[in-house]
This record gives sequence, C-alpha cells and structure tokens, in this order.
Amino acid sequence: MTEIPQERRVVTAIPGPKSQELQARRTATVAGGVGSVLPVFTVRAGGGIIEDIDGNRLIDFGSGIAVTSVGASAEAVVRRASAQLADFTHTCFMVTPYEGYVEVCEALAELTPGDHPKKSALFNSGAEAVENAVKIARAYTKRQAVVVFDHGYHGRTNLTMALTAKNMPYKHGFGPFAPEIYRVPVAYGYRWPTGPENCGPEAAAQAIDQITKQVGPENVAAIIIEPVLGEGGFIEPAKGFMPAIVKFANDNGIVFVADEIQSGFCRTGQWFACEDEGIVPDLITTAKGIAGGLPLAAVTGRAEIMDAPHAGGLGGTYGGNPVACAGALGSIETMREQDLNGKAKRIEEIMKGRLAAMQEKFAHNDRFVIGDIRGRGAMIAIELVKDLVTKEPAPEAAGALAKACHAEGLVVLTCGTYGNVLRFLPPLVIGEDLLNEGLDIIESAFAQV
Ligand SMILES: *Cc1c(COP(=O)(O)O)cnc(C)c1O
Repeated sequence: MTEIPQERRVVTAIPGPKSQELQARRTATVAGGVGSVLPVFTVRAGGGIIEDIDGNRLIDFGSGIAVTSVGASAEAVVRRASAQLADFTHTCFMVTPYEGYVEVCEALAELTPGDHPKKSALFNSGAEAVENAVKIARAYTKRQAVVVFDHGYHGRTNLTMALTAKNMPYKHGFGPFAPEIYRVPVAYGYRWPTGPENCGPEAAAQAIDQITKQVGPENVAAIIIEPVLGEGGFIEPAKGFMPAIVKFANDNGIVFVADEIQSGFCRTGQWFACEDEGIVPDLITTAKGIAGGLPLAAVTGRAEIMDAPHAGGLGGTYGGNPVACAGALGSIETMREQDLNGKAKRIEEIMKGRLAAMQEKFAHNDRFVIGDIRGRGAMIAIELVKDLVTKEPAPEAAGALAKACHAEGLVVLTCGTYGNVLRFLPPLVIGEDLLNEGLDIIESAFAQV
C-alpha cells in the first residue's frame, strides 16, 4: 500500500497537461453522456488526498460521492480485499456460496436500526438495491404502487429513474418510465412557505393527504425516502416529518424503505441517519460508503418481508462479489476501530462553525449569499441564493465557487434540484489540518467570485 502525503500540492494548472492529454483520449473514446466533475486523472488516493497524473495533490471534499468514507486506500480494505483476490475472485453466490457474503449480512443485521430478526440480499449498485427493495415490498404486500418524494434521488436505471425527481440530467429523453410511481411533497424546511417550524407536520399532512386521495393506501407497496436527501440538495426532512410518514406506513401495511445509500455508514455521525429520529425502517438500502470504494449494495430488513419473494426471485451474477464483501468487512472494521461516527460529528462541528462565519462575512455580497447551512456529520451543504428574502436560487454562484475551489486543488461537488447547493462530503478519516485548509479555499473562493 502506498502512503500518500496528506498535503495539498498544486504544481500545474488544474487540470494539468497530462490530464488534458488524457482527457482528449477520453473524449475520443468514452461516451459523452458520462461526465466528470473535474477531469484530473487520478493515480492514487487515500486519506483526504487525491493525487493526479501531473503530480498535483487535491484535497478531497467529495469522497467519490460519499463512497470512500474510510479513505480510498484504507489499510483494512486493501488487506482484506487483496487476500480475497488471491483466494478467488468469483464463484457467483447463487452457484457456490462463500462466507464473506454471510458475514456482511450478519454485520448489516447488527448495525442497522431495530432489534427484530433481519435478513439481507447483496447487489452491485445503489440503484440495484432500490430496485430490489421495490421487488421485495411488492412481493410482500401484493400491492404495486410506490410513493417517493419531491427532490428524491434513487438512481439511473429505468425503475429508479422513475423514482428520481429531477429531470435534467437524470431522466430527460430516457422515458417511458416505469408506472405506478407517485411523488408527494417532502419537508424542505428552508423553502417551506410557512417556515421551517411548521414544515414537518404540515408537509406530512400534505403527503399523507395526497397518498390517501390520489393513490389509496391499500394500493401502496412501499414508501421510499432518503433520511437526508442527497442529490436533491442535502435536505434534512424537518423534524416530525419522517415519524409521521412511518406511522402512516405502519398503520396501513405499507413497507417503509429508508434509502440510506448516501447517508448511511457513519456519514452523518450515526451508522444510519434515520437513527436521529429513532426511526426503524422496514427495509433499508445501502451502498456507497459500505465497502471502502468497492462496488457493493444491500437491502436489509425485517426477515418476514425479506423472505417474501420466491426462491430464485432475487440475485444477479455479481451480487455480493467476494472481493467487494471483503472490502465491506474492512470498511466496517475501520469505521468501528477509528470511531468514524465520532469523526463525522467533529467534521460537522468544524465545518458548520466555519461556514456560519462565512455566511456572516459574505452576507452583503450583492450577487449571492449563503441562504442555508445544513446537513449532519460529514454530509454538509450550503444553499446559495440571490437574495435572502426571495430565496431565488443562485446556481451560477455554486458553479463558479466550485470552479474556483477546483483551481486551487479542492474537490467539491454541487447538487440540488436548482443546482444551487455546494456539498461537502470529505472522507471521514480526513485530518483536521486538511479540513481547515479546504475551508480556507472555500472562503477565498467566496472572496474571489
Ligand atoms: C447514489 C444513490 C443511489 C444510486 O446508487 P448507484 O450506486 O449510483 O446506483 C440511490 N439512492 C441514493 C440516495 C443515492 O445517493
């Protein structure tokens, strides 16, 4: 394993000449529909640093979209996955099974909320996990309708595109979409007309009324929600919203699914974000942070629901690949040993403090301001608006700030239905010096843009 110095270093323009050369090769051969936030070509990564082919070392506030929470070359992940690679790469769990898969399911049963009997099934990607959660909920309830929320994101496959709210870039031109999907309001406190205090109960009442009047609860197989909405803008549903939806689901025999693909595995300072309101989902989907960068995803839930599909009804050639399972066990080991929940909470404290100071410092900027600072743990975002009163989104500002950060060697991402949210997802193992240096870069980007 290579130890990467945990220091930012910018030695060329970003992207540098070698990255630009590779980018030209890439453009000639990689489909145009596959984008990149920042086309610097990576040669190694670990801790809080991504090193590119030109020798630049960038501070990582993206974690490959909330994946490398333990870093991109965590010792336990590399050790366990390498050992597994040498033993065997694949047999297909549906042909001859192996222990790693079972161990991951045992860990999921232990770590996910609730002490009821649980079972899991493993897949390759988040979208695949969500699709399978829908299959399982439909098999269990013998109902078809699926309820999702405004600003929700659940993936890019046909079914999950239908579940995803935002047209551009996820859905545009890719229809027709899967039927029996219904979208209802979510408790977006910052933009709720009567204010964030009233948002939770009011939004829940609206959502429940729409489900009742427009779909019929007896037709609903599953309600799927992200406990912190990721791509939609790091929206934390206002207090009281999720418990009301869970109660409605429980009262009506609807399977409540928490999509914790982005918010799970210590990202928000808990193993799972839904723990903050004491929520015990019937099913929980996980991926991203689960396996230290290796492709793995899971559906975990109540044993009687998970066992509803007929034998052979779930699976896939690569689902629960042994190397990915070894990676997950290494990642979970790291999370436990290094108290990454504690680290995530410390990141929140530092980030929110610094961002609040920036909000004040740049409050009189005449083109845009920080309207909202939100998120939990190491899943923090700022929403940029043109004006604090109208809250008109400022997507150009988010784009310009991100660009300015990139030029200085800080990887940041944008998100949000209106494209006006700058999101920060550092690896949970990032050092405090790097974290603060990244925040310094954000601050100077504000001063500059
Ligand atoms: C990323 C994401 C998905 C899709 O995961 P993929 O691995 O990209 O298919 C689904 N749900 C949420 C909440 C996500 O953040």
